[in-house]
Parts: sequence; C-alpha cells; structure tokens
Amino acid sequence: MFNRSLVPILLLLMVAFFVWQRQPAEDSLLSRTALVMGTLVEIKAYGDDRELLEQGLDAAFAEMVRLEQLFSTHIPKSEVSRLSAADAPLIVSEETATLLGLGLKIAQRSDGAFDMGLGKLMPLWGVESDQPQVPEEQSIALALKGIGPDSLQISEQQVRKQTPGLQIDLGGIAKGYAVDRAVEKLRQAGIFSAAVNAGGDIRLLGDRQGQSWRIGIQHPRKAGEIIATLALQNRAVVTSGDYERYFEQEGLRYHHLFDPQTGRPARGCQSVTVVAADAASADALATAAFVLGPQKGLALLERMPDVEGFLIAADGSKLATGGLKDILEWH
Ligand code: ADP
Ligand code: MG
Repeated sequence: MFNRSLVPILLLLMVAFFVWQRQPAEDSLLSRTALVMGTLVEIKAYGDDRELLEQGLDAAFAEMVRLEQLFSTHIPKSEVSRLSAADAPLIVSEETATLLGLGLKIAQRSDGAFDMGLGKLMPLWGVESDQPQVPEEQSIALALKGIGPDSLQISEQQVRKQTPGLQIDLGGIAKGYAVDRAVEKLRQAGIFSAAVNAGGDIRLLGDRQGQSWRIGIQHPRKAGEIIATLALQNRAVVTSGDYERYFEQEGLRYHHLFDPQTGRPARGCQSVTVVAADAASADALATAAFVLGPQKGLALLERMPDVEGFLIAADGSKLATGGLKDILEWH
C-alpha cells in the first residue's frame, strides 16, 4: 500500500534532484607546456569537460608546430626560407600571405622601424648563437641594402621582392601570429576561457572564472620581479625587451631588437608592452615601438586604433598610453 506520509519526502527529493541537475559542473584547469618556435609555450584552459580541454590543447599545440614549419628561418624548406632563396615572384600559403601583409602594414605605420627584411643582419650579429659578435660597419651597411617597407609587395598570395637577394626574418611577428592561431583552435574546440603564453607573447580567450586575467609584466632590470600588472579579458598582451636575448662586450649590452636605420640594437627602451586585439599586431608593434624609442614609440601606440601600451625607457622612466589608466597597476 502507498503510504501517504511519504509524499512530502518524495516531493522534497524530486526538488533536490532537480536543483542538483541544474548546478553547473565545477570548471577545472588544464595546463600544458611545450617547446615550440624556440620558446617555452604554456597553454591554460578552463572548462567542465576534461576531454574537450585535452582535445583543444592538442589542436592548439599542433597548429603552432605546423606554423613553425612555414615561418622558421632555420628550416630550409620553410616558406620563409624559400622566399629568401627565390628572387622570382612566389605563391605562398594563405597564412604566410596574411602574416606578411600585416607585417607590411606595421612597417609602413612605423616608418620602417619594423622591418621583415633583416634576414641578412641577424646572423651577422648572431645574438642568439654561440658566437655573437659586433660586425664590421661595412658588413652592416651591406646587410641593410634595399630593406624597407617597399622591398616586398604582396598581392593576394603572390609575394614579389623588389630587392634581389632580400632575406626575410619574421622573428618579430611570427610568434604572435602563432599564438592567435592557437587561440582560434581552442575556440573552435569549444573552449571559452584560456590563456596562451609563448615566452611573453600572450593572448587571453574570455575571462578567468568570471574575473579578469591578471598579467604580471617582468621588470627589465630585476630578474624575477614584476614591474606592473594588467587586468585583461579577451586581449593580447606582448612584451619586447632587451633583457632576455643579448650578449655583453666591453660593458655594452647588445640585444636582438635592431634599428633598421643603423643596423645596431635600438637604445631608447628597456622594454615595451603592447595590448591589442590580436597577438600578431601586438608582437610587431612592441618591436616597432621599442626601436622608435620612448616618445615616438608611445606616439605610435597612441595613434593605432584599439591599441594601448606602456614602456620602460633606457633611463628607467615609465610611460603609458591614456587608455591603460584603469587596468594598469605599477608596482
Ligand atoms: P622575442 O622573440 O624575444 O619575443 P620580439 O618579438 O621583440 O622578441 O622579436 C625579436 C625578433 O624580431 C628578433 O630576434 C629578430 O628576428 C626580429 N627583429 C629584430 N629587429 C627587428 C625590427 N626592427 N623589425 C622587425 N623584426 C625585427
Ligand atoms: Mg615583437
């Protein structure tokens, strides 16, 4: 026989079951690091479906490895190597054409401070090699011949060199672009909250557990210290500095960010941090602003739409664009 006194208890159980069903499952964090493009890349993603997170991270890392095959100067068959080797017009992949197009735009906007034709200059200095050196003035002049925003022309997927023998180096933009593509793979996998960090080239997807991501920016002269924190969602933030890849000779620091006008390391800044919608633009703009120096560099960031940033000048002074007021905290 059905016991009527059980009815309220059954009802209560049904309500409890309904409420329990509607509770969202706890989000968990999946984090992985791998060496890609000569840099330690870290991807963090939040979500309630572990398998989906794993698949997203697999796809994102695979995409970065694929792009390294296109953009590396060290891989003889990469598209960049083929471009450097050929003087006749070349049809390249959509990705390479997009990246070159963006780089050219920033080369123009920065009056040539950003230049993708430094492929002869880089090995002369060998900043990242076992035997870095200060080259002869004459070799520097030769390496700079015919560079500049007009040295490359792109029409759809066709690339035409205006300067025979021009050697391409995408080191100032390729990592940022790969970060953007990795984020796109995470998004396509159904992930809404993630951060990709390729050695200081960072892009954030969504927020972090309902809050802004807090990004600490390395002090350019005090190892392990944070100079500023940025609170950001859905943005890219990229830092270029003279403190990671450099050598010293006779008390002078020779780093890897070159002024295309002199062929020598740019001396105006210690570091530049750029916040933009995409990491490729932020990457190239950080390099460009660094080369331009504090005043012109900040002016470039101010006049680019949807771009903000801050920099530490060579004398240690700190400058920031107006739009960072509410999200930048100096330490
Ligand atoms: P990192 O690779 O340390 O993150 P950047 O993104 O600032 O640093 O890029 C530095 C690289 O950009 C150099 O190693 C070189 O390949 C390239 N590069 C150096 N100077 C310039 C420049 N003026 N314009 C464009 N690319 C540059
Ligand atoms: Mg850069």
